[in-house]
Amino acid sequence: MSFKDLKISKPILRAVAEAGYDNPTLVQEKTIPLVLYKKDVIVSAQTGTGKTAAFALPILQSLLDQQDAPKKGKTIKALIVSPTRELAIQIEDNFKTYSTYTNLRTTVVYGGTPIEPQKDVLKKGVDILIATPGRLLDLHKQDIINLDYVETLVLDEADLMLDMGFIDDVRKIERLCTKEKQILLFSATIPHKVEQLANSILNSPERVEVTQNSSTSKNVAQLLYYVPKKNKIELCLHLLRNTIKGNIIIFRRTKFGVDKLEKTLLKNNYKVDSIHGDKSQTGRQDALNRFKKGDVNILIATDVAARGIDINDLDAVVNFDLPNVPETYVHRIGRTARAGNTGMAFSFCSADEKEYIKNIQQLIQLQLDIVEEHPYPLDPKAKPIIHKSKKTGSKHRKGRKSEASKKKKKRWY
Ligand code: AMP
Repeated sequence: MSFKDLKISKPILRAVAEAGYDNPTLVQEKTIPLVLYKKDVIVSAQTGTGKTAAFALPILQSLLDQQDAPKKGKTIKALIVSPTRELAIQIEDNFKTYSTYTNLRTTVVYGGTPIEPQKDVLKKGVDILIATPGRLLDLHKQDIINLDYVETLVLDEADLMLDMGFIDDVRKIERLCTKEKQILLFSATIPHKVEQLANSILNSPERVEVTQNSSTSKNVAQLLYYVPKKNKIELCLHLLRNTIKGNIIIFRRTKFGVDKLEKTLLKNNYKVDSIHGDKSQTGRQDALNRFKKGDVNILIATDVAARGIDINDLDAVVNFDLPNVPETYVHRIGRTARAGNTGMAFSFCSADEKEYIKNIQQLIQLQLDIVEEHPYPLDPKAKPIIHKSKKTGSKHRKGRKSEASKKKKKRWY
């Protein structure tokens, strides 16, 4: 099937071709006709499947079809709500790319940055608004945003939106739009609370499910290391020296943990940057750009900061801390081995995280491959592995500690 078959017209087709898309992805094939048909839709698909274009293209197409709209006095006809700022920026980028050859106007608003410039753009009028919930409601309260003309409301990454506590905001936003609007709900997974939300605000929704990036992907080697909590940093350094190569994301649960690991890796001369919620918006964006451009090859992130961000060509994902929500494991792993490439996932499990592993394995219906041969085993009875093999042996032992550091009893981290 081609984009033309999906009733996408020339100006958009041209932009899509320039973006290098030859054919629609599966989620686009299934979703675009439903959106054009003005159906409410629940789409279960992860980042990387092409889900943004699955709603952006038909929205642009619908607006283009009614383009006797005046250039002046534009009203917001499509509203996309995103849980995180990075994702909102990324969605805006996509809309701008696809609408290059139209006169449809898009903008994005999110917190953590000055509100005045956002007000100026909004006052000039836009057709498509992408927003994070808090800033959207703030601007609405100040009468800068009018949602009376919204024809399509998109809730992107709905499960994350609810995890982040935006449920009341989302409901409020939904009520602020007209009753007749179309609602598209996108979510990587559909847990009960997303289902509940969908049942209460969507109108006889159609369902699209695309699960091609699940963690059970045969292309991802999923390795599990049982390790004492206090040795995780050492294990991480050991693996970075010997095993994990290429573009890597390391997930930690807390902002504090991200900062701590970043300092350690920097001191060990790794090219690393990080993203988490306490960093300024520009700081987060800079880190992301540096990683995407290849200035650094390691990105340390919390789940919330990294979620939904389109990062291609990942060679490895490291679960430095295991997620307590098993679905999060699926999101993390889904970032590697995209588009038929192979990838690696390394999970560190300390004694207090064993329960998480159980839940993850239950969810993905797969046993992770336990790596017993490493220098920091969790079980004290198990002998630490002294590498003798040609492959990893002497190289690892030399690299792990310098003579100088061996003398220092207390480590600096
Ligand atoms: P998304 O799932 O929306 O985050 O998209 C993941 C990546 O796929 C983005 O880099 C898109 O630019 C890209 N993409 C989306 N649709 C297509 C397509 N039909 N062909 C090739 N790449 C695509």
